[in-house]
Amino acid sequence: MEKSFNIAILPGDGIGPEVMAEACKVLEILNKKFNLKIHTEEFDIGGIAIDKFGAPLPKRTLDGCIKSDAILFGSIGGEKWACLPHDKQPERGALLPLRRFFNLFVNIRPIKLNRALKQLSPLRKEIVENGFDILCIRELIGGIYFGLPKGRNTIDKENISAFDTEIYSTKEIERIANIAFKLSLKRKKKVFSIDKANVLESSVLWREVVTKVSKKYPSVELHHLYVDNAAMQIIKNPNYFDVVLCSNLFGDILSDECAILTGSVGMLPSASLNDHSFGLFEPAGGSAPSLRDKNLANPIAQILSLSLLFEYSLGKHKIAQYIESSVLRTLKKGYRTLDISDGKNYITTDQMGTKIAETLIEIIQ
Ligand code: NAD
Repeated sequence: MEKSFNIAILPGDGIGPEVMAEACKVLEILNKKFNLKIHTEEFDIGGIAIDKFGAPLPKRTLDGCIKSDAILFGSIGGEKWACLPHDKQPERGALLPLRRFFNLFVNIRPIKLNRALKQLSPLRKEIVENGFDILCIRELIGGIYFGLPKGRNTIDKENISAFDTEIYSTKEIERIANIAFKLSLKRKKKVFSIDKANVLESSVLWREVVTKVSKKYPSVELHHLYVDNAAMQIIKNPNYFDVVLCSNLFGDILSDECAILTGSVGMLPSASLNDHSFGLFEPAGGSAPSLRDKNLANPIAQILSLSLLFEYSLGKHKIAQYIESSVLRTLKKGYRTLDISDGKNYITTDQMGTKIAETLIEIIQ
């Protein structure tokens, strides 16, 4: 008998609920057509949860996530909650604890530009003539964002210092490197490991361990790049890259740099996973408060996050591909949301969701 699945739906704040509604449209079609037995339940998180329950990650939401096979996450945060103490704010109080609770140590971001859509990229057209396909693998629960000690010291009455700790262990580097090498086997078999080994001790260890892990994958080419050089090379020739392996800090910055090369952060999904394929799937962008309730946000990142959920947590590769193909085909038909349009000819969030859903029906019939 076909296994059933539970998915926790966490729309969140800002544009989250609007784009989530479009991903749910797509999910419903697939659920019916393939009799997938996927049960969804919606929970509050972030600012809306603070307003309703006084906490960004209420117990009911965490319990719902624990009972699920995967989490489809919208986005959280906004001005209204920015003045709260740091640990009570939506991102620090909900997203980071979720990542830690479920041990989501790897963040995967496919950053693709199809050659037919090269005009969307802010790069010159000769640079993106053939499009590009980068898979950014970022370590997500270690490094300087979580390293201890962190804090402040008073030097004197008018001078304080603040500090963070960039720290990685052999085991942490090994597990993320293994994921990067394994995923590269299904691609061009190239791993670009990013560090700052000319300056940072933690990067010297990173480079040593990644080199050691690479010996288990003799068919994969390993390149080491300093992060400053990588930032330049990605812009100069994105098509040269394949799997890009980064620490938490470097991955945060480089993955956003890669993201904008596709035209809009509103197009990019991400998957955060643990050892058991449990994952949180979310758009690369945030809650985009200026677009909230305007029906103008791009729902593609949220819809492609659903595709990653099928791929990485439910192991349904074919369905993941159907979603990706419907997005690509809809874009090739010329439909654009505001962020990727000429500013005059564009459709709304729900119209884009409907166009993608209609294209999906064409593909699966
Ligand atoms: P943002 O990603 O929300 O917005 C950056 C730019 O991208 C804006 O111009 C926005 O309009 C645009 N954008 C983002 N998503 C889009 C979409 N789907 N369609 C069209 N345009 C889109 O980042 P920000 O402005 O730095 O942050 C806004 C809020 O989001 C803050 O409260 C921040 O803390 C929060 N945030 C949340 C997450 C998350 O939930 N994972 C991630 C990043 C930022």
